[in-house]
Amino acid sequence: MATHVALTAGVLDGLAARLRGRLVRPGDVDYDDVRAVFNALIDRKPAAIARCRDASDVAHGIDFARDHGLPLSVRGGGHSVAGNAVCDGGLVLDLSGMKTLHVDPGCRLALAGSGLTLGELDRGTQQHGLATPSGAVSMTGIAGLTLGGGLGWLNGRYGLACDNVVAADVVTADGALVRVDAEEHPDLFWAIRGGGGNFGVVTRFTYRLHPVGPVLAGSLTFPADTAGRVLRHFDEFMAAAPDELSAAVSFGLDGGRPVLSVTVCWCGPVDDGERTLRPLRAMGPPLADSIGVMPYVDLQSAGDAGFPRGRRHYWKAGFLPRLTVGAVEVLLEHLPQMPSALSGIGAQHMHGAAGRIPATATAFPHRADQYDLQLLSQWADPQDTERNVAWTRDLFESLRPHLQDAVYVNNLGSEGPDRVRAAYGANLPRLAELKRVYDPTNLFRLNHNIAPARPDTAFVP
Ligand SMILES: Cc1cc2nc3c(=O)[nH]c(=O)nc-3n(C[C@H](O)[C@H](O)[C@H](O)COP(=O)(O)OP(=O)(O)OC[C@H]3O[C@@H](n4cnc5c(N)ncnc54)[C@H](O)[C@@H]3O)c2cc1C
Repeated sequence: MATHVALTAGVLDGLAARLRGRLVRPGDVDYDDVRAVFNALIDRKPAAIARCRDASDVAHGIDFARDHGLPLSVRGGGHSVAGNAVCDGGLVLDLSGMKTLHVDPGCRLALAGSGLTLGELDRGTQQHGLATPSGAVSMTGIAGLTLGGGLGWLNGRYGLACDNVVAADVVTADGALVRVDAEEHPDLFWAIRGGGGNFGVVTRFTYRLHPVGPVLAGSLTFPADTAGRVLRHFDEFMAAAPDELSAAVSFGLDGGRPVLSVTVCWCGPVDDGERTLRPLRAMGPPLADSIGVMPYVDLQSAGDAGFPRGRRHYWKAGFLPRLTVGAVEVLLEHLPQMPSALSGIGAQHMHGAAGRIPATATAFPHRADQYDLQLLSQWADPQDTERNVAWTRDLFESLRPHLQDAVYVNNLGSEGPDRVRAAYGANLPRLAELKRVYDPTNLFRLNHNIAPARPDTAFVP
């Protein structure tokens, strides 16, 4: 129970003395640097930032926040657009320094510290010709991505990042370090695979690895006025595509001209991939074709330049079952008015292994062949915020009739409770019940929050 002790320098000194990592406070030279996250719209000023070195630092931080009634936020890679990794006036547990990585090529497992980025994990596993599914931009943190799901270029063959977690070390709200897997704390193991940071602080993930690479990957770019024809063809092609192929569509402005790109990753034998991709390449003459054989790590960092630190971001997202004529028309109507040429619209296709897993097998509920549609607005000048947000909202409202009432939790910004409910979908009652068991006071609430179930609302499996 919180005692609300005044947060004097002396009280913080007590925490600092218990930590192996540093406690960064307002006035320290690196305070502004350490509190900054990927989305420059987020400008929060925590009372202190614990730069955790290990699980015991995490436990000390949790105990301290709980005992002093302090807001507590948890930072992995700091990439979440919602910015929940930092808080005002509370304690940030910064795990970004926890970068241990042990790869066991014989057992095809990776033990990965929660501070690793996707790029760091990929580089370590690819030294052995192995990989685990993750996302598409290498600076993203493995922790937030995996806890929410993790949709990337291997989803068709190997599923989501969370589907490949075989165990995790978690510090719970009472400060205890537990190992969770299919046998130990199986309910907590279920909840952290899609339930986000609601249930504890993960200090280490154990991932299943697969032989991957080199891959056949790259993009075909078309003028947007051919989008109707190209996307009809693409959508039909993907509906029957083998698991080895994952793909995405993106719309953007190139020198002011609306363009459409189809990006693919084939992770099977290259000859089979060339054959499989032939009908796609026959869709019409592209403006550019960059598809070729490349190391998997090159594909994984190919999108990095489009997402440098320091820009402002406002995202909206939802799932589209198919690229219907109506939805594409709405996108094409709005694209020419997009206020920032840095922005884009993406639709990552999800299918195969990622779609086949039963919706209740993990906490990630959105299991189907579908597109994760994202309106990714970004701009540099603070004066442009209003018009970029307005354009994104307007497009999203126009798209709503075409979208399912479902959203990938890792795409949420600071949105209302109906959208958070849509993110956890049919798994929400079980998640709320487990929240009541593992975090009854909602200590971990600076996230896309799951409120603990009331004791009188029993969950019936
Ligand atoms: C440029 C860009 C590209 C992206 N591409 C993809 C993609 O291809 N596929 C995809 O699936 N997603 C993608 N995402 C979304 C990404 O998955 C989320 O932003 C995710 O939250 C990032 O994780 P992080 O650790 O970097 O974030 P953080 O901001 O550090 O954390 C986000 C939240 O996760 C929780 N959290 C973080 N670490 C821990 C921990 N160790 N224990 C408990 N809770 C924790 C906290 O609640 C925190 O608020 C992308 C995001 C960006 C900005």
